[in-house]
Formats: sequence, C-alpha cells, structure tokens
Amino acid sequence: MPVWNPSVELLDPAALRAMQLDRLRRLMTYVNERVPFYREAFRAARVTPEDMRSLDDLRRIPFTVKSDLRDNYPFGLFAVPQHDLARIHASSGTTGKPTVAGYTANDLALWGEVMARALSMAGVTPTDIVHNAYGYGLFTGGLGVHIGAERIGATVVPVSGGLTKRQVMLLEDFGATVITCTPSYALVIAEELAEQGIDVATRLELRVGIFGAEPWTETMRRELETKLGIRALNIYGLTEIIGPGVAQECEHAAGMHLFEDVFLPEIVDPESGEPLPLGEEGELVLTTLTKEAMPVVRYRTRDRTRLIPGECACGRTLVRVERIMGRTDDMLIIRGVNVFPQLIERTLLSIEDLEPQYQIVVQRAERQLDDLEIIVEGTNVLFESGAEARRASVGERVTRALNDTLGIAVSVRIAEPRSLPRSEGKAKRVIDRRDLAT
Ligand code: ADP
Ligand code: ZN
Repeated sequence: MPVWNPSVELLDPAALRAMQLDRLRRLMTYVNERVPFYREAFRAARVTPEDMRSLDDLRRIPFTVKSDLRDNYPFGLFAVPQHDLARIHASSGTTGKPTVAGYTANDLALWGEVMARALSMAGVTPTDIVHNAYGYGLFTGGLGVHIGAERIGATVVPVSGGLTKRQVMLLEDFGATVITCTPSYALVIAEELAEQGIDVATRLELRVGIFGAEPWTETMRRELETKLGIRALNIYGLTEIIGPGVAQECEHAAGMHLFEDVFLPEIVDPESGEPLPLGEEGELVLTTLTKEAMPVVRYRTRDRTRLIPGECACGRTLVRVERIMGRTDDMLIIRGVNVFPQLIERTLLSIEDLEPQYQIVVQRAERQLDDLEIIVEGTNVLFESGAEARRASVGERVTRALNDTLGIAVSVRIAEPRSLPRSEGKAKRVIDRRDLAT
C-alpha cells in the first residue's frame, strides 16, 4: 500500500516529538497575538510558550470546550481577517447554532494533504474511481473526501448523499472501486443492492469502503464487508479540528493512525481532566499544530477512545487511536444507571436473526420511572408465516441479553425488516422523549 508522505508517516518518534514541541510553541505565540480568547485564557493560567519545555507541559494549558466555540459564534475564534478566509464549514448542530470552522488557502492545502494520506492508507491510488456519498455542503464529509481524492489524482464521483436507487445505478455503471459515506448509509445502499438482486461480486467493481462520521462496531464492519464485497475501513474527524482526515485505519485495521505531526492528541479523564497514561481509555483532546484560520488548543472532543501503544505492521510510526467507543455526552442516564448506546448496538449485533437497524427510545410518563424501549428489526425469516414462536424467542433472548449487559430492565420490540427510518448521513438511533428541562 502506498504511503503518501513517508517523511512524516514513517518519521522517527523522537524527531516527531521535537517537531510537535516546536510547533506547539509557535502555535501558542500565534494565537496569543491573534485571538483574544486564547490571550485571556493563557494569561489567566499564567502560561507562556517558554513554559513548554516538553510535551508534558501541555497540561498547563487550559482546555477549549464546545461551549467556547458557541460563545464565540460565528467568527470570534478566527485568527485571520475575513479576507484571508478561503472557505467556511459548519457542523450540523441539531440544536441551536452550528459550530463554525474557517479555512485559509493553506488550511485547505493541509486538509488535502491529510485526506490524501488517509485515502492512500486505505489503498486509494490515481487509477481509482471514488464514489463519494458523504453529504456535500456545509458538512465537512463530502468536500473533505473530495479534496483528498483530487489531490491523489483519483477520479471523483461527487454524488453526495441520498437518492439511493440512483447511487446503486451509478455504482454499477461507472464502476466505482471505492465508496465513501457514513456506515449507516452504506447499509442502506447494501439493502438497495440486495433488493434489486444485484450480485456485488460480478456486477460491481467496489474494493474498499471508507466509513466514518459516526460510531460503528466490528460486527458492522463484517456486515458491510460481506454485503458490499469490500474491505471496510474507519476514518475519523470533526469539524472543529478540520473535518475528516484526523485519523484513518491502514489495511491492518488495528486502530486509526492519527496525523500527529499536525494534530496533537492527548487522552484525559473526562471527569477530572487529568491526562491519562498511554493506553488508557478516556476523552480525546486535540490541538491543531499548524492551522491558520481557526487553530484550536487542547480541544475536548468528547469522543471516548484510547491511544494504542506499539508499532503497526504497516510500518507507520504515527500513533493509532482505537475505534471511538462513544461520546462522553451521548451517555444516557436511566433510573440512575449509565447506559451507553454503543453497548446496546454491540449486544444487538451479536444476536442472530436481527438486522443492524435499531432505535433506542427513552420515555418518562408523568411521575414514573424512565422507560427504555429498544426497537430492532428482525430478518425476513422472523416474519414468515408460522415464525411467530421463533420471533418471540428471539425477542426474549434480546431482552435477557440487554438486561444482563445494561443492568436495567428494558422492553424490546422486534420490528419488521425495513420498517425503521433510514438516514442518508449520520443515523439517529437514540430518541429521548423525556423532557429533562423540567
Ligand atoms: P456534528 O458535530 O454535527 O456531528 P461533525 O462532522 O463535526 O458534525 O461530527 C464529528 C463527530 O462525529 C466526532 O466528534 C465523533 O463524535 C463523530 N465521528 C466522526 N468520525 C467517527 C468515527 N469514525 N467513529 C465514531 N465517531 C465518529
Ligand atoms: Zn498501520
């Protein structure tokens, strides 16, 4: 597999640390001069670039959190005047104002560089046809993959999300070798292929899928690999840092290599904020070392993961991050018990006769305890006539498995195949009907 930038991706770790430290000091000087928010924060914490004698001194710098971005909406954290901005993106922001990110021309070049590394890592070359079904627009997914694929010199099909029948037609007619989209939308495409009776092995040229923007599991990977006849690899990123292209799995799929020459990672205890030893699970904190328009310093991503120590078989020295295990803020508290949606997914996908489509519904009737209902689609087999007993027994198995893993009682409904809503982008699996404001 080609290594896009060997001088960085294979760099000796000691040289990499020296480069990071040097860049960190420059970054601090840069934002101190240009962004009042950081100038204030550094002054209050009494920290200066000279205090950074080693990377351990990072912990002296205050965190930046999501609400800091919101408080400075829209352009308050930008370090350049508007006429130096080449582009603006924003995250979906389901409630209230979106999170805004600005890019200078150099930032876009950086994005092209990290995305070219990511796509190369997944085996994309100039001869590939990339069917890019991430949404185009303010969302970073579509244009992020686009800029990297162009940089590599691959052929891009900028199809964006939606119109699934047309996606399937184009996949076949154009002979795409690479598909990029959210894992949940990849499932929707796989379903449509199955519906139309298209044999992926003979009628499609697809070889690899690069999926991200939302959490997914190993079972989901196997599912997608089988149904689409591809190798499915994980990509990670977030608007606040740059978009997709922060970390990517190589062909060994043993964690995602993080581009740490430009994005400096830490793992901290989500409660105390204290840095955790290498290998422990916690919240990922990222610092952009070279961005111009909107650098962020010690940004708390709210994503839970860990850094994987040791070398990767591909030879890259870049540290790997484990598959994101959820967000520190997506944990549901039900009757006082912490419930992680991803644990529910893992449990469901380990049970036969279920489709990887589910919804988690939390409700609270007046003056009653919270009620957790899991709706999961069964396979066609469970809905054939005469299969009622089998359906009931699967329902009981699911209920028991979830009660055991979560430690609370849940009610389970096995729904008909294809009855739950599908998403073109990020799936919405949790529906919290509690009015927690009152
Ligand atoms: P929004 O904030 O609207 O969801 P973003 O695209 O900026 O828009 O979302 C970034 C977030 O998406 C990350 O912080 C992370 O929680 C999630 N995410 C991105 N890639 C992955 C991935 N490969 N696995 C799990 N979660 C991911
Ligand atoms: Zn590797």
